[in-house]
Amino acid sequence: MTSTLITGIAELVTNDPAWSGSGVSGDVARLGIVADAAVVIEAGRVTWVGAADAVPQADSRIDVAGRAVVPGFVDSHTHLVFAGDRSGEFAARMAGTAYDGGGIATTVAATRGASDDELRGLLAARIAELRRQGTATVEIKSGYGLSIDDELRLLRLAREVTPHVTFLGAHVVPAEYAADRAAYVELVTGPMLAAVVAQRAAAYIDVFCEPRSAHAFTEDEARTILRAGQNAGLAVRVHGNQLGPGPGVRLACEMGAASVDHCTYLDEADVAALADSGTVATLLPGVEFSTRHPYPDARRLLDAGVSVALATDCNPGTCFTSSMPFVIALAVRELRMTPAEALYAATAGSAQTLGLPGRIAVGERADLTVLDAPSHLHLAYRPGVPLASTLTS
Ligand SMILES: [Zn+2]
Repeated sequence: MTSTLITGIAELVTNDPAWSGSGVSGDVARLGIVADAAVVIEAGRVTWVGAADAVPQADSRIDVAGRAVVPGFVDSHTHLVFAGDRSGEFAARMAGTAYDGGGIATTVAATRGASDDELRGLLAARIAELRRQGTATVEIKSGYGLSIDDELRLLRLAREVTPHVTFLGAHVVPAEYAADRAAYVELVTGPMLAAVVAQRAAAYIDVFCEPRSAHAFTEDEARTILRAGQNAGLAVRVHGNQLGPGPGVRLACEMGAASVDHCTYLDEADVAALADSGTVATLLPGVEFSTRHPYPDARRLLDAGVSVALATDCNPGTCFTSSMPFVIALAVRELRMTPAEALYAATAGSAQTLGLPGRIAVGERADLTVLDAPSHLHLAYRPGVPLASTLTS
C-alpha cells in the first residue's frame, strides 16, 4: 500500500464545517475551507487532512502549485446510456417549437437499435468527458429501453460504470402502449420491476410525473409505480414539476423520496412539503438553459430551509451537457445561489441524494477535484473555462 501526499493546495474545500473557524459563518462555513492545505490518500481513501506545514510522511507527492481542491462533483441525475442525436430537435426548439417530452421516443428507437458495444462505447466517452470536468460520482437512469429486455440491458451497462443506478421504466409511455396506458403501468410494476429486482439491477426507482405531458405519468400512475418499487425494496426518486405546477413534488415528499428533481414550478405547499421532509430538491438548470423555460427559484428553497442539490440531467433531448461547472455557474447567475451554496449543492447536496457524505475527510473516499484557480469562486467567476478535473478516482 502506498500513500500519496497532495500538497500546494491554496484552498481546500472539505464540506466539513469543523474546519471553519469562529470568524466564518453562513453559506461559507459549511464548506469547511482550509487555506494552505495538504491531503494524504492511500488505497483510494483519505488518511490525513490538514495544514501544509504539518504534513506526515508519504511515499509519493503531488504538488498542485497553488490551486484549489474541492470534493469531486456528484452528478446525481443523468441519462447517459443512449444512442442517437437530437441536435435537430434542439435547433427547432431554439426556433420556437415547444418541448413536451415527445422527442424521447426518438432516442428510444435509436437506443433499442444500437448494440451493447455501441452503447458501451458511447457511455465510456461520456464518462471520460464528465471526469475531465471534475465529476467523481455519477448516477445513471435507464428509460430509453421501455421493454423488459431493453431496460435491463441499459441498467446492466450503467452498472458497469457506476453503482448508482436508477430504474426509469416509467420515463414515458412507449408508442406501442399509447392506446392502453394502464397496460404499460402493469408491465412496469409487474414483470419489468420483478426482473429488475431479481437481477439487483438498480437501487432506485424513478418516474416522470408530469400530467401536462401526454407522454409522461399522472399522479395516480406515478404513485402506483413508486409504491410498487418501494415495496420491492427500491428507494425512490421523482422527476417532478418540470413543465408546470403539478403533483410530483408533494408525491415525492409523501413517498419519502431521496430526491425530487427539476422543481421548476413550485407553489407554497410544495415548498412547505419539501421543508418538512427529508427529500432533497435537485435543481437541473442546464435544462432551463437548453429549453428556454424559466429557472427554478433556488433562493426561495434555501430560505425555507430545504436541502438543495445540483445536477446536469445530461440527456440527448432537453440538456446535453455533462458539465457540473457549467451548472454551478448557471446556479449562481440565474438561480441566485451564492458560489458557496452552489458548490455545496453540487457536492454534499447531490451526494446526500445517493446516501454519500460528499466531503473530504479522513476515512472517506478520496474523490478530489482540482481547479486550475486559487479559489472555488472561480467556478462561477470564469464560466465556460475548463478549470476543473478529477485529481483522483
Ligand atoms: Zn431526467
